[in-house]
Amino acid sequence: MKYLSTRAEAGSTERKRFCEILLEGLAPDGGLYLPETYPQVSDATLSEWRRVYHEQGYAALAFEILSLYIDDIPADDLRDLCARTYTAEVFGTGEIVPLRHVEDGLWIEALSNGPTLAFKDMAMQLLGNLFEYELARRGEELNILGATSGDTGSAAEYAMRGKKGVRVFMTSPHGRMSPFQQAQMFSLQDANIYNIAIEGVFDDCQDIVKAVSNDLEFKRKYKIGTVNSINWARLLAQVVYYFAGYIQATESNAQKVSFAVPSGNFGNVCAGHVARMMGLPVEKLVVATNENDVLDEFFRTGVYRVRGSADTFETSSPSMDISKASNFERFVFDLLGRDGVRTKALFGDAINSQGRFDLSADPLFAQAASRYGFTSGKSTHADRLNTIRDTWEQHGFMIDTHTADALKVALEQRSAGTPMVVLETALPIKFAATIVEALGREPERPAKFEGIEALPKRVQVMASDTVAVKALIARECGY
Ligand SMILES: *Cc1c(COP(=O)(O)O)cnc(C)c1O
Repeated sequence: MKYLSTRAEAGSTERKRFCEILLEGLAPDGGLYLPETYPQVSDATLSEWRRVYHEQGYAALAFEILSLYIDDIPADDLRDLCARTYTAEVFGTGEIVPLRHVEDGLWIEALSNGPTLAFKDMAMQLLGNLFEYELARRGEELNILGATSGDTGSAAEYAMRGKKGVRVFMTSPHGRMSPFQQAQMFSLQDANIYNIAIEGVFDDCQDIVKAVSNDLEFKRKYKIGTVNSINWARLLAQVVYYFAGYIQATESNAQKVSFAVPSGNFGNVCAGHVARMMGLPVEKLVVATNENDVLDEFFRTGVYRVRGSADTFETSSPSMDISKASNFERFVFDLLGRDGVRTKALFGDAINSQGRFDLSADPLFAQAASRYGFTSGKSTHADRLNTIRDTWEQHGFMIDTHTADALKVALEQRSAGTPMVVLETALPIKFAATIVEALGREPERPAKFEGIEALPKRVQVMASDTVAVKALIARECGY
């Protein structure tokens, strides 16, 4: 399998292998990597995978899917990486992503029983093992520099803790994460994890990361990398749970299923798109947004308009608070018939100069729904409270704010006869304040997180100063 950039020039033959793009971010032309083709899964293969999942489990299914995209890691090594990643010990259950039956035709797929209680663990835990494997093979090191306001940073730290050849320098806005999130990250005592609390806001953290990455000499010398959501390996890991969800919700391949996905940077639902392109019998991919409705606007109108900071809202489903959706370019590339020149004109040029593009008059836009199965909807703070309350009162369990956004839109968009699977992306304990607002009671806390706020914290507070962050990295690397 070879990979190409979404901004590839017409006739370009520039292609990369999986392990070449594993440690890279954007392609050099500014595009995102996608496989040259989507491997097609026949009815017989899907039946075989159904058997594999039921008899051998999630890790074995993951190997089947990943091996179609990764041909530069020996099969036995890849099988071992999957087996070490997707264990009941790390993900809480033998099914790894069990389905919870809500009512006739409606399911919730649990993706957040990993170490940080959010679905980002599904991909990040694999990434940690892949990075360690590939760095050892090359005899290299990597220093991951990131900015987080919550979920991504903790998922990255829990995936990379103790991994050989990797250090994580994670900046976060000092005092602005929830006490639970701070405790999750700062209680890690691993020597290769550095928590840096910046005296400033999230944008200051991001500016530092950008400034360091733009210093090419520093970046090369200190082997600076990232683990952001445009990484193809993360997206690929997420494809697996669409198959596992489908297999659990159906008895035969003749049935179709729809998925409702709480969306921000479009990574999660883009994995659903890849699964569907491989031939998974998916009817609809329902994109659910919160008040930051960039994606809902596109799927309703054909206009993609990135938001400025003044109209990017802080909401009670904060992991979906985006001003632009960094993985969206991957889908648009497919929608435009894989025209890299046109994709570049939209994302490289139109977005940079006008902050928007408009496909409403293009006949291809209608195919987003008719051919690719996309629909969308939006959910507000009041909707979240209602959905959390209704779910608790009618079904007796709690859902988090992001999952509530997806469930709200799923209920509007489901069609009779097609099971709807709502992807649960976090556990309620991570967003306790909104649960209390909706239900007047605290969410359950998994036993392993009892009392974490009282654990010793490993964090250094720093001024919002790129030079100081660079000095820390240089000192800790010692080269
Ligand atoms: C990251 C995140 C999302 C958004 O996922 P994307 O892949 O960015 O669309 C939704 N919910 C939670 C809890 C998250 O952490």
